[in-house]
Amino acid sequence: MKLIAQVKLQPTEDQCPALLKTLEQANAACNYVSRIAWETKTFHQFALHKLTYYDVREKFGLSAQVTVRIEAKVADAYKLDRKHKRTFLKHGAITYDERILSWRQSDQTISIWTTGGRQRIPYVCGERQRQLLEYRQGQADLIYRDGEWYLHQICEVTESPEFDPTGWLGVDLGIVNLAVTSDGQVFSGEQIEVRREWYALRRAILQSVGTKSAKRRLKQLSGRQARFQKHTNHCISKAIVETAKDTKRGIALEDLKGIRGRTRLRSGQRSRHSNWAFYQMRAFLTYKAMLAGVPIQFVDPAYTSQTCPLCGFVSKSNRKSQSDFVCGQCGYVGLADHVAARNIAAKGEVSAPMVSAEVVKDGNLPSTAPPLEVRDNAPLLAAG
Ligand SMILES: [Zn+2]
Repeated sequence: MKLIAQVKLQPTEDQCPALLKTLEQANAACNYVSRIAWETKTFHQFALHKLTYYDVREKFGLSAQVTVRIEAKVADAYKLDRKHKRTFLKHGAITYDERILSWRQSDQTISIWTTGGRQRIPYVCGERQRQLLEYRQGQADLIYRDGEWYLHQICEVTESPEFDPTGWLGVDLGIVNLAVTSDGQVFSGEQIEVRREWYALRRAILQSVGTKSAKRRLKQLSGRQARFQKHTNHCISKAIVETAKDTKRGIALEDLKGIRGRTRLRSGQRSRHSNWAFYQMRAFLTYKAMLAGVPIQFVDPAYTSQTCPLCGFVSKSNRKSQSDFVCGQCGYVGLADHVAARNIAAKGEVSAPMVSAEVVKDGNLPSTAPPLEVRDNAPLLAAG
């Protein structure tokens, strides 16, 4: 499974211009190659290479490997669309491979090719990123954002083989409660919501100020909020996967159909923020489960919040409010999200044997889930 490790570079004042010039030269070269590709209708990387390689190296002062990456980038861009000429932003990300970028984890530095020669630059990252970097493989993107430098390195992590679950831990994901398990563990979204409201208020004030420094502060704020939410999602999903693994259970989640239009994903300011957080939590749970070898199952979400886990009575009126469930038949009272999680777990139990029955019928080994690419940096950008 491919995961992206993100680190922040800490170049010296002398190194910043070298990085910036490299980025600008590389993107100018992309535009040059793109123009030739467009004018000659040459879109394949190899043909482009023959046509542009020496020119690019001479005109833009780029290394052999950077030039090859640029040709690949342009060829890639035209793979998607050959009806329009492609242009590249002045400070767009550029791709490095191990021949022009090397990592030294012992002292947390990288050695990176620039137009001003190779530079050794320190980087900072969290513990999770550090562990991930042990599995780095292939390419990395050099990114310039809001005056800061980042590297996004691809890492190839091996999934653990799935164990045979002795049962299923149902997990209900939401917004008021970020996650509730069928065991009754509640991960409240209250802290997130308090912070979100505080940030929303600060944002409104800064927007009304409108000065340059207020705008800069605004950007910082939305980044900080996204990082807080992301950290929370990491912690919660980690705890859930550990519980499942320790108790030899698989994890059952609702599949995505029917999630849209659910009352729990409301429209408006709050939910725009909550939606990406919700999908991020799902993605984190899924990939952490795959890494740990915990089987994961997606069940039909129909009636999970309306069914009584004791007597099976299904009615919309069982759900008295966002948080309360009261069965109209047997009188069972519970937390609505916990009821949903129990029903999800029960659906996991029911659908699991059907899967193995199919396997026996076809005489094939169960196929593992398709590899999932999680770019957990993506929501950061959508947070604003
Ligand atoms: Zn009941």
